[in-house]
Formats: sequence, structure tokens, C-alpha cells
Amino acid sequence: MAYSKKIFDKATEKLNFRRNSALNMVEYRKKELYSAFPRLNEIEKTLGEIGAQTAKSVLNGSSAIDELKLLKEKSIALQNEYKAILTENGYAEDYLEPHFSCEKCGDTGYVELENKTVTCECYKKLLSDTACEELNKISPLSLSTFDSFELGYYSGNPDENGKIPYNRMVKILKHCADYAHNFSLSSKGLLLMGSTGLGKTHLSLAIANEVIQKGYSVVYVSAPDILSKLEREHFAYGYSEKEQIMNSLLDCDLLILDDLGTEFVTQFTSTAIYNIFNSRINAGKPVIINTNLTVDELGKVYTKRFTSRLTSSCEQLEFIGRDIRALL
Ligand SMILES: [Zn+2]
Repeated sequence: MAYSKKIFDKATEKLNFRRNSALNMVEYRKKELYSAFPRLNEIEKTLGEIGAQTAKSVLNGSSAIDELKLLKEKSIALQNEYKAILTENGYAEDYLEPHFSCEKCGDTGYVELENKTVTCECYKKLLSDTACEELNKISPLSLSTFDSFELGYYSGNPDENGKIPYNRMVKILKHCADYAHNFSLSSKGLLLMGSTGLGKTHLSLAIANEVIQKGYSVVYVSAPDILSKLEREHFAYGYSEKEQIMNSLLDCDLLILDDLGTEFVTQFTSTAIYNIFNSRINAGKPVIINTNLTVDELGKVYTKRFTSRLTSSCEQLEFIGRDIRALL
């Protein structure tokens, strides 16, 4: 996947930070232990000298086989002595070795596979997470939680349709909390419907936060913002971030589109929304959509084709009550 230089630089910076932290920790520990046990320092120096001698002997060819054998034995004995000093003093054998976040690549981002240097999975994930973070900056994830959702704002009296908002919202809150708790890549999508100010954004942000904490990549964007950005990039002259944005929208584990239907709908945005949604559903990846519109209204704004995919792949949760912002 192609990333912009900015994403690439940011991800590389994080990777270098991980690697340097592991190496700095080793230096710190060595300093401490070498002053307590100077023999460790001597052994390390001697091992370095043996390494240099070994390299020389290899260059000298076959006549050096006996010498090499001797050097190897000496080296193994010293390594064992080094480990013994550590363990006898209550340290783990590998106490002075770097502990990288990724053992496969030692936090370099690259591994050797069948004589080829390839990008390590950890670096791919870091790039994809960094791209998600960049997108999330458009609508920053505030710290909404299920605990801070105030059910007290919802009336316990029946509304004009005979439904009790409080009871409905207790169910919806539980449903969303269970959804986040049990989230997996095979989760269904959610369609959160209802007027403005009924808590759709709050609950979808709470889902986002919990799913992120479970280690999944989540992109949370407002539909009007992301669609206008995509449209600008689509018609941009020269370098465009459109591909990268689309990739993040399609690749993340969970995509949350807030405020769908409030954007200025054009042929471009209508097609883009359908494509994003359709590609994710085909790939079995969940989407959460928040909208003030009903399914019928969405069908008029977009297409029936879109709403039929939407309703067949998402659970519908209809928020009811009075705009809680008016009650604050
Ligand atoms: Zn790695």
C-alpha cells in the first residue's frame, strides 16, 4: 500500500523510538551491572577480541580450522561464564540483551525472507495505524465512555408513538457496550438512527475507544468532512492523498461514519459512499453509521441499492427522545 511521505516518516520515527528505547535500556543496565561486576566488562571485551581474531582466521582459509575451533570453544566458555554471573546474582540470562517490541525484526521494520529483505508485519501495522491516526485527526476521538452516558436525560414517559425513550436507551446502551466488548473482525455493522442530540456520537465514540483499546484499528470520521476531503483530493492537481485516504477507510478494522446524510450530496460523494460501504461489506468488515435520516430518507438521498445493502448488513438501532443538548 502506498503511503505519503508524512505517514512514512511518522511511522519510521515511532519504530526508531521503539528500537532505541530497547537499546538504551541495555546500555543503562550494562552500566549498572558492569560497575557491580567488572568481570562482565572484561568478558565482553575479550569476546570482541575473539570475534576479530575469528574474522582474521576465516580469511586465512583452511589451515585455520583448528584455530577457529579453539576460538569457538573459548567464546562459548566465556559466554557461559557471563550468563552464570548474571543468574548467580539473581538476573535473567538475557537481562543484558535488548528486548525489542518485535522479536522478528528487532524493531528495524525489515526481515530476511528467502534471501530477500521484506517489510516486517509490525512495520506494516505501524504504517496502517499511523494512517488511521492521521484520518482520526479530522475528527478527534474525545474520551466518550459508556459510563459517562447519562440515561437520566431520557424520559420515562411514553412519547407520541407510545414508546418510552428511557427504556429504549437502556437497551441501546447495553447493546452498544456488548458490541464493543465482543467486537471482532466478523462483527456486523451498526446503523444508529435518530435526531440530532440523542447520543449517537457519544455511543459510537465509546465503541471506538473500547475497540481501539482491544488493539483494533479504528477510523472515526464525519461523513461530510471525509467526503469533501476525498472530493478535493480527487480533483486535485498533481499529488493526491485520495488513494491513501481510501485505503485507510477500507483497510481499518472498524470504520465509523458520523453524520451521514448531512453532507452536500453530489454524484461523486454518492458513488464514493456506496463504494466505501460496498467494498467493506464485501470484505466482511464492519461499518458503524450514524445518521439523522430514516432508511427511506437515506434511500432518497443516495440510492435504494445503497440502503438495501445497508439494512442487510447492519443492525438498526433507533434512538428516541428529546435533544439532550436542549435539556442541559
Ligand atoms: Zn517487526
